[in-house]
Amino acid sequence: LAVFFTFAMYIYQLTFPTFIMGWVVALVQRGAASMQRIDEILSIEPSIADRPDTVAVKNLRGEIEFRGLDFAYEGAERAHALRNIELTVPAGTSLGVVGPVGSGKSTLASIIPRLYEIEDGRVFIDGIDLNQIPLATLRTSVAVVPQESFLFSMSLADNIAYGLPFTEAHSVEEAARGAQLGTDLAELPDGFDTVVGERGVMLSGGQRQRAALARALALGSRPSVLILDDTLSAVDARTEDAIQRELFDVFTDRTVIVVASRVNTVQHCDQIVVLDAGRIVERGTHAVLLARGGLYRRLSEEQQREEHAASEPAGEPT
Ligand code: ADP
Ligand code: MG
Repeated sequence: LAVFFTFAMYIYQLTFPTFIMGWVVALVQRGAASMQRIDEILSIEPSIADRPDTVAVKNLRGEIEFRGLDFAYEGAERAHALRNIELTVPAGTSLGVVGPVGSGKSTLASIIPRLYEIEDGRVFIDGIDLNQIPLATLRTSVAVVPQESFLFSMSLADNIAYGLPFTEAHSVEEAARGAQLGTDLAELPDGFDTVVGERGVMLSGGQRQRAALARALALGSRPSVLILDDTLSAVDARTEDAIQRELFDVFTDRTVIVVASRVNTVQHCDQIVVLDAGRIVERGTHAVLLARGGLYRRLSEEQQREEHAASEPAGEPT
């Protein structure tokens, strides 16, 4: 009997270690599988990289020049997203880009930070071929606020400070003010500490866009080129006005490209181009383009009618 009890004791003592062993083995296997997936991603060679003929340049003033650029997406059914783009944006000035959906506005905006590969001799910044500018320089000098910004499931403050080495309360607050996030902050349960949820689901469309704008503003004066790709489309007209007034400070001394579906968004730009099916069909200032009575004028009238139709202060679409 004593032997039996001793045996039972041993069995009993073994159950826990056996259980733990199984757990550890499963954990190691899961880790190995994850590691394999991470390795796969890390081993992908980026197709856009610095070339051997890269010019050592650290700071860009932000003069942008397009010389007869044609661009087509790989494997797209439409031959060209952009056709014969000829355009010079002097450093420190602003360019407005308007046009119907699918006219190539976002494509034009994405080419400047070299998100897509283009041929040599077509786009220059400060007179240097875009393809010869070190990517590190390009990515610190050109800030893009995309149409749909990616917000991470962390606090609003951390999201705004995403481009900074660490979250600095002072820069975050200033950026939020510039992006007119003030009233939103009051409405959010924990202000800056509100966790915005997966992809920012806690925020409205307009709030997401203002947060994305704040992220670019938090970079301070570092980027000499700021590109807003339809950044304020989900913001109501009155808030947009307020943001634009604030942005005036941010805009001085840098090159700003404002892509917009609303004509009113670009009315103060030094220069405006109208895109249609990948081509620049009109260019000039707001007043000149209105007087010309072309596509710009038509877009402007259409949008004014829509705004009247929406008469009562419209809520922000989400
Ligand atoms: P906009 O911003 O003016 O609405 P886009 O620059 O996004 O226009 O698109 C211009 C054209 O390029 C459209 O015909 C669109 O379908 C096409 N396009 C945009 N992005 C891609 C892509 N990643 N791959 C293939 N075609 C694209
Ligand atoms: Mg677009």
